[in-house]
Amino acid sequence: MTNRCSLCCFSDPEGWKGTLMRPLVLHIDIDAFFASVEQLRNPRLANHPVAVGSGVIASCSYEARQHGLHAGMPLGKALRRCPSLIIIRGHEAVYRCYAARLFEICHRWSPLVEEHLDEAYCDLSGTERLYPEPEKSVTQLRQEVASATGLTVTAGLGRNRMFARLIGKFHKPDGLGSIKPEQEEELLKKLPVAQLPGVGPRTEQILVRLGIETVEQMRQLSRPALGALLGRNGEILYERCRGEDHRCIGGREVPRTIQRGTSFDEDISCPRTLEAMLEYLCERAARNLRQRGLEARGIAVQVVHSDHVRDRRRIALDRPTCLDPPILEAALILLRSMQGRRTALRFVGVVLDRIRALPAALQGVLFETAPESAGANGSWQQRERYKRLFEQVDRIRARHGHGALLRGSTLALLQGTPGSAPKLSRDRHGLILRTSCLTR
Ligand SMILES: [Mg+2]
Repeated sequence: MTNRCSLCCFSDPEGWKGTLMRPLVLHIDIDAFFASVEQLRNPRLANHPVAVGSGVIASCSYEARQHGLHAGMPLGKALRRCPSLIIIRGHEAVYRCYAARLFEICHRWSPLVEEHLDEAYCDLSGTERLYPEPEKSVTQLRQEVASATGLTVTAGLGRNRMFARLIGKFHKPDGLGSIKPEQEEELLKKLPVAQLPGVGPRTEQILVRLGIETVEQMRQLSRPALGALLGRNGEILYERCRGEDHRCIGGREVPRTIQRGTSFDEDISCPRTLEAMLEYLCERAARNLRQRGLEARGIAVQVVHSDHVRDRRRIALDRPTCLDPPILEAALILLRSMQGRRTALRFVGVVLDRIRALPAALQGVLFETAPESAGANGSWQQRERYKRLFEQVDRIRARHGHGALLRGSTLALLQGTPGSAPKLSRDRHGLILRTSCLTR
């Protein structure tokens, strides 16, 4: 396969006239990613049930899945189901390298690639000349990934993102699925609602309670009815159950929330440790906002107490922000208001909501001073100073990793305090948390 750009197929001005561009999306997913990497690195683990994770399973091998194990299952329960399970805490930096290798190959095959944790969407629209038989080309791509990384991937080809991902799911592991537009209706009609992208456990519960179990039954509901039942997600599902998915590849969608959270190895009662961890999580969430050019107006803190009682409190900020100080301040107020139960905590997390794109008008400064715009989040000049500061902080972290520049409170977390301090470590990407995710 040559590394030609897909646009080359338009080089013949007569050839493409009158030809409609074929929409085609390729979804590539690494099979049992973390567990497969561990099995590759240590051949003695091959053909054994392996789970990667701490507290809960982050990824498990297909041998483990045969015992009913799945991602998100508590490790204690997993061990009871499969006593021969081999548990590995995981090596994030190594997984990152493997994922980067996959993405590098995808970029050679498509000019437009959207990267996720262990999967990628490639836009192959308009590549009829370059890939006249897409299935054959994708088989070649999969072989290339296998020889470069040793990992197997499952690929799905469809008219849009939804069908590409959906058809791939039916061909796991190490398979290739392809669905033509004329086959879509047949697949969708029989599909249980739970398998429709966008339907999570809670949505499924609501639908099943109403006797809606298949996509065909779901289609009986009107757009306003689904919207009233499931909110914004209902309107999206109205289109999905008809096979429509207009999300573009690499598109910058505004997420509804940005969340960061972690559980602890041991329950934590020390307020300083909890606050330091919350500050670190807020920093990560705020940085994510800035990277995507977004700002948030609402902030919530959620905790799980040692007796499994959950608590969540939310506050609306005076004005939308993407800067650390107002987010940290609000998060700490919320956390302190939740410590009345006097129990240790096993989980702490922050949720930013009411997110919107940063207005372009605020990017330039028209006047040097604007005292009337001062508010509870600090004066206008102070916000400008913070904005410049965090631009530099983000630049350093983009170059050297988040771990290159840490707050004093985070450093205290690493050193630990006598008693209940968590034994945390860090790499260039930041702290290594108990429940962590590569995308964070
Ligand atoms: Mg996967």
